[in-house]
Amino acid sequence: MPNQNQQLTVSMYHYTRELQYSRYPQIKGMDLASFRKQLSFFKENFNVVRMEEVIEAIKGKYTLPEKALLLTFDDGYVDNYTYALPLLEEYGFQGSFFIPGKPVEEHCLLDVNKIHLILAVANVDSLLNDLLEKLDYYRGTEYDFPSNDELINEFAHANSWDTKEVIFIKRVLQTALPEKLRGIISSELFAKYLDVSEEIMARDLYLTRDQIRTLKRHGMHIGIHGYSHMWLGRASNEIAQNDIKKALEVMDEFTNHDEWTMNYPYGSYNENVLEFVKKNGAIAGFTTERGIATIGGKLDLQIKRYDCNDFPPKSQAFEFMA
Ligand SMILES: [Zn+2]
Repeated sequence: MPNQNQQLTVSMYHYTRELQYSRYPQIKGMDLASFRKQLSFFKENFNVVRMEEVIEAIKGKYTLPEKALLLTFDDGYVDNYTYALPLLEEYGFQGSFFIPGKPVEEHCLLDVNKIHLILAVANVDSLLNDLLEKLDYYRGTEYDFPSNDELINEFAHANSWDTKEVIFIKRVLQTALPEKLRGIISSELFAKYLDVSEEIMARDLYLTRDQIRTLKRHGMHIGIHGYSHMWLGRASNEIAQNDIKKALEVMDEFTNHDEWTMNYPYGSYNENVLEFVKKNGAIAGFTTERGIATIGGKLDLQIKRYDCNDFPPKSQAFEFMA
């Protein structure tokens, strides 16, 4: 058995664009000059592998090369097609694109992106005030949720990327409130801070079905990233399972039913989610837990990844490991 405990390093991307010249330069993403430098770093220091190789390694039929590295792109942004694909082809690398079903099918803006865009244009203090006012307005109506103080205590904690205010806004709008209310408040804030409709923004932001087909034709891998990009690990079983089922239906033409790949939105999953995707044919599952992944064992549905900002030219930590 050559396949036990093979190591795989995974780099995770979201937006890839000319940030400086884009309409929303404050959006958090990988600018192209850095992306190119990073691909050069990988070419020199790693062996970039294809998802097919990872799948064969999981099945015990293939041994990954030393310093194997996989490139993954989350959320199905059109800038991955416009800017990342040409560079991937130039370097001869495969990208694996994990695309939520809902934007492809319904051309609507995911809550996660409404929040990114609002944060990219709004003054954080004014946004925070607006949000707290809205929470007071909706509390005790049709919706029940904790007081502002309790929410602040629970969620306003900075992490390595965001301030406590930003994390608070993100968590409240991503997960703390009842789902329907999250959508309502995100849309109200979007309408206040952005001068474009959600549908036009969605059509600007996401890959179309034709573009996904083209990615595939160019040798890229397409994987599942849920339907409505929810925290699957916090949803009820029924809601989580329906979301994954719907994603599989919508992405059917791009995936292999017996060996599809899952990427948990926000890195959120639980035992039930793992069991459900396994039973339905997932062969690999990608998380947002940082670390080098071990392939060909019990953790094939919980593959660790690094953020692209953890590698040169954004961070030098990996130069010593490469
Ligand atoms: Zn995502």
